[in-house]
Amino acid sequence: MEYISTRDFSRRVSAAEAIVRGLSPDGGLFVPETIPTFGEGELEKLLPLTYPALAAEIMGRYLPDFTKEELREYTQAAYGPGRFDSLNTAPLRRGRQESYLELWHGPTCAFKDMALQILPYLLSASIRKCGETKTVSILVATSGDTGKAALEGFRDVPGTRIMVFYPENGVSDIQKLQMVSQIGENVNVMAVKGNFDDAQSGVKRIFGDAALNESLSRAGFALSSANSINWGRLLPQIVYYVWSYLRLAECGEMKLGDPVDFTVPTGNFGDILAGWYALQMGLPVGRLVCASNRNDVLTEFIDTGVYNRLRPFRLTSSPSMDILISSNLERLLFWLSGKDDGLTRDYMEKLGREGRYTADPALMEKLRRVFAAESVTEEGTFAAIRGLWEEERMLIDPHTAVASAAARRRKREGVPMVVVSTASPYKFSHAVLRALGDDREREGMEAIAALEERTGVRPPEPIAALKNARVRFTESCEPQKMESAVLDFLK
Ligand SMILES: *Cc1c(COP(=O)(O)O)cnc(C)c1O
Repeated sequence: MEYISTRDFSRRVSAAEAIVRGLSPDGGLFVPETIPTFGEGELEKLLPLTYPALAAEIMGRYLPDFTKEELREYTQAAYGPGRFDSLNTAPLRRGRQESYLELWHGPTCAFKDMALQILPYLLSASIRKCGETKTVSILVATSGDTGKAALEGFRDVPGTRIMVFYPENGVSDIQKLQMVSQIGENVNVMAVKGNFDDAQSGVKRIFGDAALNESLSRAGFALSSANSINWGRLLPQIVYYVWSYLRLAECGEMKLGDPVDFTVPTGNFGDILAGWYALQMGLPVGRLVCASNRNDVLTEFIDTGVYNRLRPFRLTSSPSMDILISSNLERLLFWLSGKDDGLTRDYMEKLGREGRYTADPALMEKLRRVFAAESVTEEGTFAAIRGLWEEERMLIDPHTAVASAAARRRKREGVPMVVVSTASPYKFSHAVLRALGDDREREGMEAIAALEERTGVRPPEPIAALKNARVRFTESCEPQKMESAVLDFLK
């Protein structure tokens, strides 16, 4: 199986190359040329597998240039008990009306760990398979969750270095403390005097600087990225859809073969797209509900066929979904248009140039056979947190709450609903406390202590341990000095 670009059908690369490059040179995203499918009776055979074994099995179908042994070793290291605090890796918690698939039992307590724990293994192996011998140097600009998850994933991975830039005043105090106290010999963290866009533009500038890349290459370094459009981040996410489906069947919620609906709190469209791939593979997914906060660009698109990013950007209590350009949607458009690379390129160029495009009605009809969309206000988000706590003693974070509220609007009689739960409530203690009716202003560790006192729910170990965190990284730089910061680190 080879990979093709969504904007140029003739550009074919191996799986390893797709992972190393991240983005196709024509600006498109890499997709597998065909989607592998489960054979007759195969789901039943997958039923007894542990999470790491299931991950190796599913990912192996998309990675012909990796051996079974390699993938088993990587998935065991990434998802085994050393790194996730649940023996199940991704436990499914059943509520009265829907089940919650908890994807935040990894080292940084958010769902980014599901992909960023395994990506370093996939990426460093891919680099070797492509004949690269240089030290892989990952650069990340982050608005919060991704930076920490990437640091944890790449720390002390042989043959790699990682540097994370975050906006000096643009991340929460918990997120900042998580990053600046990062351990590991191959890591560096730097504040940028600017906002997230400044940090992101700086990283893009460095990737595009041919002379800089050339001199780094001579010094033995190859730059790479861990951002969410890399196929190596999407692929591992297919696994937990299959996993949660099997767990529901196992506990008798429905029979193998019966449909299950999923509601996914959506930003960049990566998580929910993985659910769509699972469906294409033959997993009986009924409906995928795309849940958005007040940044409802996807809700409007799915309802009307018009994608329009020219709208006010709203800051919400679910910041990882405060996004107006959902990059991974491109992969879905490519597929639903019958792999029409010209049309996909057209839409994306229009989006860049004019800020909007209108998708073909036939394509939208296909899309709506699977996808439904809901957008949830801040009040709706807080009400969902409060309701679930008061009625079921289940504590959820604001991102999960957006999905929970959306799921209740779309629940179908007789079809189980899985809500994808993407962060520990303790990562957003302040907002959760507010939802529970406590409006006092509190900072990081204080908010965590207050939430524990109020609910009696223990914070996850990595968050509790921040109390004793030692700050290692205190430096900051002007956006135009990011190049020299990278050079200093890699020297
Ligand atoms: C990144 C993130 C999301 C959004 O996921 P996408 O794949 O970008 O759609 C939702 N919730 C949390 C907590 C996240 O960190």
